[in-house]
Amino acid sequence: MSDSIFQDALTRVRTIGESAKVSPEVIESLMHPMRTMTASLPVRMDDGSTHYFTGYRCRYNNALGPTKGGIRFHPDVNLPEVQALALWMSIKCAVVGLPYGGGKGGVTVDPKKLSRMELERLSRSYVRQMADVISPERDIPAPDVYTNERIMGWMMDEYEAITRKKAPGVITGKPISLGGSLGRDDATGRGAYLCILELEQKHNWIPSDISVAVQGFGNGGYHAARLLHERGYKVVAISDSKGGIFSQNGFDVPSIYEEKQRSRQVRAVYCNHSVCEQVEHQILSNAELLELDVDILIPAALDGVIGKHNIDNIKANYIVEVANGPVLSDVDDILHEKGIHVIPDVLANAGGVTVSYFEWVQNRSGYAWELQDVHERLGKIMSKAFNDIWDLAKAEKRSMRNAAYTVAMRRIGQAIEAHGTRDYFNAD
Ligand code: GLU
Repeated sequence: MSDSIFQDALTRVRTIGESAKVSPEVIESLMHPMRTMTASLPVRMDDGSTHYFTGYRCRYNNALGPTKGGIRFHPDVNLPEVQALALWMSIKCAVVGLPYGGGKGGVTVDPKKLSRMELERLSRSYVRQMADVISPERDIPAPDVYTNERIMGWMMDEYEAITRKKAPGVITGKPISLGGSLGRDDATGRGAYLCILELEQKHNWIPSDISVAVQGFGNGGYHAARLLHERGYKVVAISDSKGGIFSQNGFDVPSIYEEKQRSRQVRAVYCNHSVCEQVEHQILSNAELLELDVDILIPAALDGVIGKHNIDNIKANYIVEVANGPVLSDVDDILHEKGIHVIPDVLANAGGVTVSYFEWVQNRSGYAWELQDVHERLGKIMSKAFNDIWDLAKAEKRSMRNAAYTVAMRRIGQAIEAHGTRDYFNAD
C-alpha cells in the first residue's frame, strides 16, 4: 500500500503532465526525489531505556524555492509515503504560487503511546538528526498529522540550540509567543472553506440546503466543519479514527468539538454552556461515512481512503480533499466520468502552507501581521488559485485535479526551463 502510494503519486504526475504537454524534462525531474534522509532517533524513555525510532525527511524538488512541508508522527509513516507527501507539497506550493519547493518528514511512532516528556525528547531528537538538512533558507518543516504547535516550538528551540542563534524561520506552525503567525491554527480548514465559498458563489448555493460529511476531526477537518457550520451548512456526519456519527438534521459543530476535547470521543451532543445533551443520531464507521449521499464529502484523515474498493458506492457530488492523497489516482477518471467533482488536496488544503509562508515572511522581516491582514491575504491567494484552476478546467474540459497539476507543472517547468533544456542547448 505505502510503496504503491508513491507509485500512485508518480503515475498521476506522468499521466497529467503528458496530457497537458508539459515538457518531458520537467516530468522527468518530478519523478526523482532530490534528497531523502533516513535517521535513527534515539530517545530516552521514561523507564530509563533508550528506544530508537525511525525518522525521515525528503526534500523532493526545489525548483521554485526552499523545500517546505510538514512532519508527521504516525505508526504507518514510511519512506515511500514521505516521498509521496513531499511530491504533493511540491505541486501544492506551485498551485498557490508560493516561492517554495516541496518537502516532507515523518517519524514512525504512535505518539498516543508516548508520555509528554518522551514526545518532547523525540521531537528534539528528530531535529538533532536533521539539523543539517533543515534551515530557513533550505528546508522548512511545519505541523502535519499528529504534530502540533508545541512540537514545532520544541523543534525550533533545539535547532536554535544547535546553531547558537535565533532562527524562527526554520519552522512554521509555532506557538504565537515563539514567532508563530496569527491565523495559522485554522488555515488548512479555512483554505478548504474558501474553496467551498467559491463553489457556493458559482452555483448560487443556499448553505442550509447543502449537506456535508467530514471524515477526520483533527485540525483540518474540525476547522473546515466549524466554518461551514457557522455559515449555515448542514454538517450531517463527523468521524475520528474510532468511528463516526450521522444525523440528517446536521450537528452543532462547536458542541461536538467541546465534547471531543473533554472525552476524546466524537459524540452526538448539543451543549448549552457546559451542559451537554445527547441528540438523535446514527453511529457509523469511517467506511460508511465515505459512502453517504451528501452534497460535499470532506476526507480529512489519511491517504488512500477512496479507490477501486469503494468507488462504486461513493455518492457525494463534491469531494473536497482536506487530507493529503485521500483519493487514489486509478479512480480519477471514474470520478470525472461519474460527474463527481473533486477539489484536490493540492488546492483544498493549501491554506495551511500559505499561512506558513506568511509566518516565514514575518519571521524573516521581524514584523507581526494582524489577523485581518492574514485572512485577507489568504483569501486573495486561495481565490486566485481556485479561479486559475477553475478557468483552465472549464476551458480545456479537465477535472479540477488535472487542471491544478497542469498549472503547477507549468510553473515548475518555467523555473526548470529558465536554466536551459535540451531544446535550448541543441539550438543552432
Ligand atoms: N502539513 C501541511 C500540509 O500538508 C502544512 C505544510 C506547511 O505548512 O508547510 O500542507
